[in-house]
Amino acid sequence: MFADVIVDITVSEVDKIFEYIVPNDDIFVGSRVVVPFGSKKLCGIVINLKEKSNYPPNRLKPIISVLEDSPAVTKELLSLMRYMQKKYFITAASALRLFLPSEMRLGKVKELTANFVKISDGIDAIKELENLKKSAKQQKGVLEFLIKNKTAKLSFLANEFSRSAVNALEKAGVLTVYSEKISRNPYENLNFNNKNVTLTTAQNDAISSVENTDKTITLLHGVTGSGKTEVYLNLISKTIAGCKTAIMLVPEIALTPQMLKQLRARFGDTAAILHSGLSSGEKFDEWWRIRNGEAKIVIGARSAIFAPLENIGLIIIDEEHDSSYVSEQSPRYKTLDIAIFRANSNGAKIVLGSATPSVETYLKAKNGEYNLVKLPERINKRPMPEIIIADMKREVRRGNNTMFSSHLREELETCLKNGNQAILFLNQRGYSKSVICTECGHVHKCVDCDVSLTYHAEDDSLLCHYCGAKYKMISACVECGSKYLKHNGTGTEKIVYELQKMFPTAKILRMDRDTTAKKEGHFKILNEFSEKKADILVGMQMIAKGHDFPSVTLVGILDADMSLHFSDFRSGERTFQLITQVAGRSGRADEKGKVVLQTYTPENFILRQAVKYEYDKMFEHEISVRKATGFPPFSDIIRIMITSENEEHAVAVTKSLFNEVSALRDRFPTEFKFLACMKSPIKRILNKFRYQIITRFSVGNDELIYRLNELAQKYTDKTLTAYVEVNPNNLS
Ligand code: ADP
Ligand code: ZN
Ligand code: ZN
Repeated sequence: MFADVIVDITVSEVDKIFEYIVPNDDIFVGSRVVVPFGSKKLCGIVINLKEKSNYPPNRLKPIISVLEDSPAVTKELLSLMRYMQKKYFITAASALRLFLPSEMRLGKVKELTANFVKISDGIDAIKELENLKKSAKQQKGVLEFLIKNKTAKLSFLANEFSRSAVNALEKAGVLTVYSEKISRNPYENLNFNNKNVTLTTAQNDAISSVENTDKTITLLHGVTGSGKTEVYLNLISKTIAGCKTAIMLVPEIALTPQMLKQLRARFGDTAAILHSGLSSGEKFDEWWRIRNGEAKIVIGARSAIFAPLENIGLIIIDEEHDSSYVSEQSPRYKTLDIAIFRANSNGAKIVLGSATPSVETYLKAKNGEYNLVKLPERINKRPMPEIIIADMKREVRRGNNTMFSSHLREELETCLKNGNQAILFLNQRGYSKSVICTECGHVHKCVDCDVSLTYHAEDDSLLCHYCGAKYKMISACVECGSKYLKHNGTGTEKIVYELQKMFPTAKILRMDRDTTAKKEGHFKILNEFSEKKADILVGMQMIAKGHDFPSVTLVGILDADMSLHFSDFRSGERTFQLITQVAGRSGRADEKGKVVLQTYTPENFILRQAVKYEYDKMFEHEISVRKATGFPPFSDIIRIMITSENEEHAVAVTKSLFNEVSALRDRFPTEFKFLACMKSPIKRILNKFRYQIITRFSVGNDELIYRLNELAQKYTDKTLTAYVEVNPNNLS
């Protein structure tokens, strides 16, 4: 027998299948094996077994060993690998990497074992108990416990009784100590309380609509607080009852524990969690619990779509419009593509949920390609929180130069006085605390990237948010030597500082990149806030999504404009989504919620629709603009990105590539709606110059996209990378 093996190597040139001799029958398609590779031993995955080899047997080497009894990668995932190779132009090895926790590939993690104690075979425990000396109280205790419970952890018995008692009984041959695998359980200490709710008619209708539709994809368009989560949980419950499995995706790792809490409350240990914030051991154990069928529900962020579940019946993508569902790093995949592939292989249904679906998704739902269900009202007919616009231009004219409008200040006072909680939201995109020289206007930048550095007061340093480089704060302008430096813009730190001055007794929490860096950092902050240990939560994008804090009655959006002014065709849509999401955190329980939206452009169309929750009006507006301009969803935007440390080389390759793409356009003139090449808006990242070719195609022309990939591949070498992005999240 011979095996085709994909060897785990990074180099993109090596997208090859290697053949090995199969030494025994414990090797299956999908098994992880160790193989000789040159002078090294490497890990690989068997993707095929065959009787005949293409090579003479004396040229082949045998597989050294097999790593697990059962195959790690399922047949379905192997076919997904082939699909991704073609669709995204990636190597088999890099697709496989998405399927296996990285720790597993490197072979670093060991199974965790613990010592257990049982009564030895052939021992009559009752008799032994009678024979024990009266004084041997501890030994008696141990034995009685084991007669009742059969086995126990050694550490438990040592604690409860005594270690020497166990030792004595073991020495006498009465007890046997053995070691057994145990699972590390992330978030073991979550406290679950199962809310028992009676579903509303709207929720019930939504559930039966998903069950009865013959369409694979359902869009659940429900306003914030309309009870979408309850719909998900019920659909999952029915899926499990039908002996199938389910995947539930949320956009942020920070949201997974909260969701896991609800899943564990209802489904116990059949729910598993997968995300990059877990420790290696936890990830390894959770992964295997899923792979061997112990866990039937997987909750996670984007990458959990690759969970090794079999027999999937349901895939839920919550907050489907969120940009995190598109991977911006190689392999650049779209979560929905993968979900559709897996749904088709398993006969599963997909539910996309959102209060503000992406324009693309909503168009498909309206056209009947997706099944559309709506939850137009909040639970218990609670009103949507009122959004008040605070015109910051007027504030400035009145002499208020702080970040807080008088409206927001008053509302904060009332909120705190009534013992409620508030969330203050700061836009992350476009937010910067760059250091600017007030004499010459020079902005201090990272040496390796063409981006301004961000000031961090905590350790008086400057950080590059692209490459992570840290610099000492400068005391004078590097251009002109002036000492007059200003920290432009505001960050969460500054806001907390100002807030504390206004409300000295308020307890304020800050959630951003810095405060969440530690393991379970998000979780701890959110938990503290939800247990009402703080009055105000200040944060950026990650506090906008999904959270359900019943005591929050006020949300302040400090800089609503920030994302409007991006030269991105999606900025209007994004701003609307963001405002709706953040506003949706307010007034979710009995008390009415309020939102103060601070802006310098109160007359803006998108903002005016957002404060009235007019999703459909925003949609119609966006669609007509996109149609007129030929932007997605009426075209696909394709970007070929060329990056190199050598700028001349990058320019030369960009030119040649552009010529080749132009020739392609001349052959398919109707397909190309636009073609141009230019420097990227961010000219350099990590010391690599960035050039781009941008084009727009008719929707879904996979063949042309494949050709562009081939071209890009042709120019990629050790000193330069060229890659293709389809509808990238941002064009910076
Ligand atoms: P969404 O995900 O649509 O924003 P949630 O699912 O978080 O909304 O629901 C909002 C709140 O309403 C939650 O506190 C939830 O427990 C509660 N809820 C959901 N469904 C019901 C119901 N049928 N009856 C009572 N309360 C409900
Ligand atoms: Zn200067
Ligand atoms: Zn940098």
